[in-house]
Amino acid sequence: MTAPLVQLRSICKTFGDHQTLRDIDLTVENGEFLTLLGPSGCGKTTLLRILAGFVTPDTGHVLLNGNEITNLPPEKRPINMVFQNYALFPHMNVFDNVAFGLRCQNIDENEVAKRVEDALAMVRLSTFSHRKPINLSGGQQQRVAIARAVINRPELLLLDEPLSALDYSLRKTMRLELKHLQRELGITFLFITHDQEEALSMSDRIAIINNGQIEQVDTARKVYEEPKTLFTAQFIGEANIFNTLVDEASERAITVSIENKLFTLQNTKNHRKGDLISVIIRPEDINVWDQGEITDSTEMLPGVIEEVIYKGSTVDLMVQLPSGFRLAATEFFNEDDPNLYYDVGEKVWVEWTLGWEVTIPHE
Ligand code: ATP
Repeated sequence: MTAPLVQLRSICKTFGDHQTLRDIDLTVENGEFLTLLGPSGCGKTTLLRILAGFVTPDTGHVLLNGNEITNLPPEKRPINMVFQNYALFPHMNVFDNVAFGLRCQNIDENEVAKRVEDALAMVRLSTFSHRKPINLSGGQQQRVAIARAVINRPELLLLDEPLSALDYSLRKTMRLELKHLQRELGITFLFITHDQEEALSMSDRIAIINNGQIEQVDTARKVYEEPKTLFTAQFIGEANIFNTLVDEASERAITVSIENKLFTLQNTKNHRKGDLISVIIRPEDINVWDQGEITDSTEMLPGVIEEVIYKGSTVDLMVQLPSGFRLAATEFFNEDDPNLYYDVGEKVWVEWTLGWEVTIPHE
């Protein structure tokens, strides 16, 4: 069996008295697009710099293709990096910027020309080869930086928030382009962002990092639908969180009280009677009903509309429950439920599809 491309084992790093990385274990498979997602200061860049060889971990091991590279200098690693500010050479034109790495290796000029042309064609900048970076848009500079980084065919490309300097619509376009490029090149991408939408839309897997520790590594869908910690649930998307005690528990089901009403939920986490748990429900899994529409409210909670935000294809509602809990609900326009016009102060019933909630032990 071939080893994963990257294995980080028990990596710790402290700067001064601040422990930046705590016992990080992470595996990156060959050809994967893996994103490190977490708030500012959580240690993402430090982890990337350890992989690139710019920072040495205090303890732990970095393996590439099964071989230890923890103390290998950066230039000896088949790894390249794209920085947030692109770090292009301002005095060189696009061609020379992209050719730089090859020329450092004294590669024949004919070969350099061919490979630079191929790289520029790949990022759709063939006609820009004589321009200086200052005469390019942010998105074009970004593509030059990527062409320059992939021209040596690194085994691993590290990208440190490469889209953060672009405006929103260009960022959305570049997300798709980067993803296509990664597939085309077959190079493994390790990408940093603190933008959850970016992470969800591009990644094969996402590693959620909080305060120097990995909270969860999973596919985008799993981190969103099956968060393992409260931090993950709150960091990715919006979440309604009810903290409650388990009243009854069997192998399959638990009974909990939410807003003084008993609900029977699936016992997917081996909860026991008396456990304090968090019940997490996404806004889009909540249904809101006009009180006149409902004849059986057994599994529903009463509420009052506090806020209505129209968003075109959806309406975001804030519903106040009897305890004062503010429940976020996202309602979609569709044929089955055309009545999405609510007034502030209107009394409603709310429910969620039982089974779609996630329960985790209270932290
Ligand atoms: P951001 O999203 O803001 O870039 P990050 O998640 O990438 O943040 P890091 O840049 O890895 O976070 O920094 C994590 C912590 O380590 C921060 O508190 C930072 O100040 C500290 N740190 C990083 N590098 C050094 C250094 N060379 N010397 C001292 N402290 C450092």
